[in-house]
Amino acid sequence: MRLQNHARTTTTFIQYDDPYSEFRNARYSNAGLLNERDEIKLGTQLHREVTKKYNLTDVGLDRVDRIGQRCARASLRPAMLYKFHVIQSREFNGFSLPGGHIYVTTALVKLANDNELASVLAHEIGHVVARHSLKTLKQSQEYDDIAKSLGDLTGVAGDVARDLGVALGQMVAGGLLTIHTRDEEREADFLGVRAMPKAGFDQQGMITMFQKLQRIEGTNSDLLGSLFSDHPDAQERIDSTRYEIARMKRR
Ligand SMILES: [Zn+2]
Repeated sequence: MRLQNHARTTTTFIQYDDPYSEFRNARYSNAGLLNERDEIKLGTQLHREVTKKYNLTDVGLDRVDRIGQRCARASLRPAMLYKFHVIQSREFNGFSLPGGHIYVTTALVKLANDNELASVLAHEIGHVVARHSLKTLKQSQEYDDIAKSLGDLTGVAGDVARDLGVALGQMVAGGLLTIHTRDEEREADFLGVRAMPKAGFDQQGMITMFQKLQRIEGTNSDLLGSLFSDHPDAQERIDSTRYEIARMKRR
């Protein structure tokens, strides 16, 4: 599309500035972070802590796994073994942990149609692709101890595992690894919306998902988990998603 100066002033509903410019040339790897083997060990340990804190359920799990695995294969990190989990909760939420563990709540699973659920799962997979939790962990005071313990860890029993479990339990309780910066949320949205068509899902699902959550924000905001209550404004996320969909159609 050729843009002329007067177009900018007369058509206000089109966003001309690329909201995702800083992510377009990103390359993702574990370089400078925990290596992948230790990341997977960390994920296993963290998942054990999650199971202590939340009630996991099989309700809706087949559907979540089927949709999630399609999104995972279409992601920029397709070789990771992703494990999808459903948490029994009235809250609308989703989060992910290192090593490919992705969680969504029963309330969210019920609320979302397949394309909308795919948008949430593709977003969470995006956090795993971009190693956001590993970057957060690297900046934490406990990083050296945790990295050493993971290197020494050979099983799930013993002193090393127990000490590590205490440290990681505190991290899960405090949400350290599941709370992301605003830019990380934007990057996960970007990676998610781009993976959706390759996985066979309609990208409009991301927009209608945000709209559904936006409505809940207006009526029952206490039921919104970190998936939505943190970070970028819903309307900004909708606008950026629309921009990306239009851009992909042009190319
Ligand atoms: Zn997120």
